[in-house]
Formats: sequence, structure tokens, C-alpha cells
Amino acid sequence: MKQSPQLKKAEEAMKPGVITGEGFLGKDKRHLIDILIEDDAEVSRSGLSHDIIAEKMKFFKEEGIKGEGLPVCVGDNFEVIVESVRGKLACPFGEPGLISKNNIGVINTKIKQEIHFTDFHIHMIEEHGFYQGKGSPYRISPKELIEILEIEPNE
Ligand SMILES: [Zn+2]
Repeated sequence: MKQSPQLKKAEEAMKPGVITGEGFLGKDKRHLIDILIEDDAEVSRSGLSHDIIAEKMKFFKEEGIKGEGLPVCVGDNFEVIVESVRGKLACPFGEPGLISKNNIGVINTKIKQEIHFTDFHIHMIEEHGFYQGKGSPYRISPKELIEILEIEPNE
């Protein structure tokens, strides 16, 4: 699909060495618009929205912060640890302002899987529906988030 000049600019900013050394697209050769459309379709198929996913990520972050650097039990089967990280990143989609990048680690003890994300991931998903390109070391697919964080459609 043809993408807007705005997305084209964002795609340029996502290449390695512009905002971060590794960039956000990995080995994904698709245009940004196609990456966004595919992940959006997967989220819709699950009966969810990017907002619902981001809300759950924020929930774990808020719970984890209470541990002040130590792991916190959340619910019956989650352990969360939030590590504050210095430094901020600009958003490749170009809005002004910088985004912090605290690390949030969530272990789902029931299925013995864990996931790590940052404030930056939350911002990208909430504001842009962007989960990064395939092969990007920091990509987290909607499927991983939904399974490990046990995200369900709102009633
Ligand atoms: Zn943004």
C-alpha cells in the first residue's frame, strides 16, 4: 500500500543510526504502512485494540514500580520488576518531546514465559499501533503480549 509522506518520514527515522543504532525495522523490508496494517489486523482478530494492550502494559508497569527495583507479585501468576533507566528517546513518528525508557519485565509463572518492554514500547503501541519490524531485536509481537500478559477483550 502507498504510504503518506508522514509515514515515509517516520520510516526514514526508523532506519539504523538515526534515532538508535539498531533502528526499529530489523530485517523487515516491508514499508512501514504494511507492517502497521499486518499487526493491526492481528490485534483486531483477537478482539482487542492497541489501547487495551497498552493499558495492560501500563497496569503491569504501575504495579511493578511499587517494588522500587525489586520484584512484585501481581495477581496469582505474575512477577513484575521495573528497572529505571536513564536516558530518553525521540519518537520516530516525529511528535515533539522525549520518551523515557524504563525497563519492565513481566514473568507469567503459570506458563513460565517472560517478556520485557519499555515505556517506549508502550508509547509506540498506544499512539501508533507500532510493534517494530520483524527481525528487530526489540520487536514484541501482539501475539506475545496477548499470551504472556493474558490480555482479554473488555467485557
Ligand atoms: Zn510517538
